[in-house]
Amino acid sequence: MTNQLQIPDSPTVEQLKGLLQESETRFSALADASPVMIWMTDTDNRSYYFNKSWLDFTGKSLEQETGVAWQKGLHPDDVKAFNAITDCIKRKEKYTYEYRLLRCDGNYRTVFEVGNPRFLPDGSFAGYMGSCMDITETKIVKNELANQTKELMRSNEELEQFAYVASHDLQEPLRMIISYVQILQKNIEQNNTTGLGEFMNYVLDGTSRMQSLINDLLQFSRVNRKGSVFSLVDLNEILKIATLHLTARISENNATVTYSDMPKVKGDTSQLIRLFQNLIDNAIKFKAPDRQPEIKICVEERAEDFVFSIKDNGIGIEDKFYNRIFVIFQRLHTRNEYEGTGIGLAVCKKIVERHGGEIWVESKRNEGSSFFFSIKK
Ligand code: ADP
Repeated sequence: MTNQLQIPDSPTVEQLKGLLQESETRFSALADASPVMIWMTDTDNRSYYFNKSWLDFTGKSLEQETGVAWQKGLHPDDVKAFNAITDCIKRKEKYTYEYRLLRCDGNYRTVFEVGNPRFLPDGSFAGYMGSCMDITETKIVKNELANQTKELMRSNEELEQFAYVASHDLQEPLRMIISYVQILQKNIEQNNTTGLGEFMNYVLDGTSRMQSLINDLLQFSRVNRKGSVFSLVDLNEILKIATLHLTARISENNATVTYSDMPKVKGDTSQLIRLFQNLIDNAIKFKAPDRQPEIKICVEERAEDFVFSIKDNGIGIEDKFYNRIFVIFQRLHTRNEYEGTGIGLAVCKKIVERHGGEIWVESKRNEGSSFFFSIKK
C-alpha cells in the first residue's frame, strides 16, 4: 500500500484533473497543519498563497495578503533589510531573512524566514516558497543569556581583582602584628620589658588598621547586597545633606562648594548621598598646598542620562592612574601624606554602576581634577 498518487499509463484529461486536485488537497492539508508559516510567490514575486498559520498570525484573509499587500505588515525599520534580499531573489537563490511582522494583536514579532526558489522539471523558474517561524521568545532568551554571561564574566573578574587586592592589603597590617607579637613574646620570655608599650602600640595600630579595612570591605560589598529600592530623588536635597555631613571638613579647609540646579533621578537616596559626599570629600582632601579648595558641581542632560561633574582645583592625577584609582584599596599616596584606605572611589564606582551609569576622571597634574559620572534617566 503506497500513499503516492497512482498515475494510469494513458490517463484521460479527467483523470489528470482528479489527480491534480488530489495533489492540491494533500499539499494544502499538509501546509495548513504545519505550525510553520508558509507562503508562495509567482515568477513576478507576487504572493498568491499563504497557509493557515500565516493567516492566523496576521489575522488577514488570503485576499488581503496576496500580491505585495502582506508587506504592509512589515516593520518600517526592516523594509531596508528586506530590499537587501531582493538581490538574492533576482539571482533566484535561496535566502534567509529575519524581520518583524505585525501580528493580529498589534504587536510586532520577529520571524525567521527561509526562501527557496522553485523550479519546474524543465528547469524554468516558478517563483519562491518560503517558510517562517516566530523567534521572538528565542531571541529574548538568547539576549538575556548573552547579557547574563557578560555580567557574570564582569563580576567574576571584579571578584578576582577584589580578592587579590583585599588579601594583599590585609596581609600588610597582619604581617606587622605578627612580627611585633613575636618580638613581644621573645622579650617576655626573657623578662625584658623595654619597649613593651611601644611594641604594643604597633600591634594595636595594626589591628585597628585591619579593622578599618574589614569595615571598608563590608561597606563595599553592601552596595549591591543591601541597597534599597530606587525612588525619585531630588539631587538638590542630596547635595544639601552631603555638604551638611562635610560641614567641619569644608570650614577647616576654607573650601567653597557650589552647585547648579540639580535634577531629580531614580535612585537610592543614601547611596547617592555617599557618592557625592565621597567625591566632595576627596576634592577637599587632595587640595593643592597653595590654594583654597574650590569645588564646582554641574550637570549636563543627555538623551538617556545625566552627566554630573565634580570639579576641583587640587593636586590633580596623572592620566596613567585614571583607571587604577577606582580599584578597591588602590591609592597614589601613603597614609602619612593623606589619610584614607582607598575605598572611596571603589564604592563610588559600584554605586554608579548600580544606577546604570559610568564614572571617570579627567585631570591635569597640579591644576585639578574633574570626576564625572552618569545616571540613567
Ligand atoms: P582614599 O581617598 O581613601 O585614598 P579613594 O578611593 O577615594 O581612596 O581615592 C583613591 C586615590 O585616588 C586617592 O588616594 C588619590 O590618590 C586619588 N584621588 C581621588 N580623588 C582625588 C582628587 N579629587 N584629586 C586628586 N587625587 C584624587
